[in-house]
Amino acid sequence: MAFQTFDDLGQHITRIDTAMVHEGLAACYLLRGGDEYAIIETGTHNTVPTILALLKARKIDLAKVKYVIPTHVHLDHAGGVGGLMQALPVATLLVHPRGARHMIDPAKLKAGATAVYGEAQFAEIYGDIIPVDERRVRTMDDGDEVTVGGRKLVFIDTPGHARHHFCVYDPTSRGIFTGDTFGLSYPPLTTVNGPFICPTTTPVQFDPPALKASIRKLLARQPQRIYLTHYSMVENPQPLGERLLTMVDDYVALAETVAETADDAALEQALMTAMREYLFRCAREHGCDMSDAQLEAVLGLDIQLNSQGLAVWLQSRSR
Ligand SMILES: [Zn+2]
Repeated sequence: MAFQTFDDLGQHITRIDTAMVHEGLAACYLLRGGDEYAIIETGTHNTVPTILALLKARKIDLAKVKYVIPTHVHLDHAGGVGGLMQALPVATLLVHPRGARHMIDPAKLKAGATAVYGEAQFAEIYGDIIPVDERRVRTMDDGDEVTVGGRKLVFIDTPGHARHHFCVYDPTSRGIFTGDTFGLSYPPLTTVNGPFICPTTTPVQFDPPALKASIRKLLARQPQRIYLTHYSMVENPQPLGERLLTMVDDYVALAETVAETADDAALEQALMTAMREYLFRCAREHGCDMSDAQLEAVLGLDIQLNSQGLAVWLQSRSR
C-alpha cells in the first residue's frame, strides 16, 4: 500500500507526516473536539504547508484551530510552531514552562541546530524558525487541563528525554501523545511480536532515572494507545512500557561499558558501534528479518542521535 501523508486513526485524530528527512520518520497530529481543533506536534517549518493543506482539504476554518501543542522544543516537534501560529489567527501556543522562552526567541535553537548541521543543511531540513508573540503563549504545568470543543486534554510533566517535555493525555481516546518520552517505534520493524520500541536519548538532557519515572507516570494513566511522534499510533502500551524501562537500563549499561575502554576522542564513534550492535540484535530478537543495510535505513539516524546523547550524558556525569 502506498504511503499516506494523512492517516485517519479514529477517535477524531489524524496522523500527518511531517516529511522531515524522509516519510515515516516524524508525525504530527490533528485532533478534533466538537467543532474545534488542536494540532499536536508541528514537525519543522517545512511541514507547515502540509498541515495547512490538510485543514484546507477538510474545509476547516483556520479560526477553529484553538491550540498548537509541541510536546517539547526539539525542532522535529516544535520547528513549525512559529510558521503555524502566523497562519492560525486565534490559536494559542501551549508549551512546557521550560520551553516557552525558546519559542518566543528561537535564536538559541537556531544557533544550536546550525552549529550541528551547517547553514545549508539546516535550511534543507528545518527551513527556518519563526518567533511567536509572547502574548499568544501559555505555559502548561503538570496536571493542567484545557478543552478543545469540550474534549479535555491533560498535561503531564515528563522529564528524562528533555527537561522541557510534557505529554498530553486525551481521556476521550484513552490515548497519550508522548513526543519522545515513550520512545520510538517505526512501522517497518513491526512483526508478529508487535511493534518494535526503543528509547530515544537525543542530546542534551538525557536523564535515565527521570525518564524511567516519566514512563511509569504515563503507564499509571492506564492508556489504551500511544500516539508516538516517531512514529504514529501503537496500542496495548503496558508491555511496550515495560520493555522501554528495561532498554533504558540497557542503554546506561552499554554507555558505561563503552566509557571504560574508549577515550574521549573515540567515545561517540564507539557508542555508535555498540548502539548499532545492540539495536540490530534487539530488532532481530523481535523477529525482524531485514538486512543490516535495511535496518540502518530505518534506525541509522537514531543510532547517531542516541550515541551523541549518551556521550553528552557520560560527560555531564563526570564533571
Ligand atoms: Zn526530542
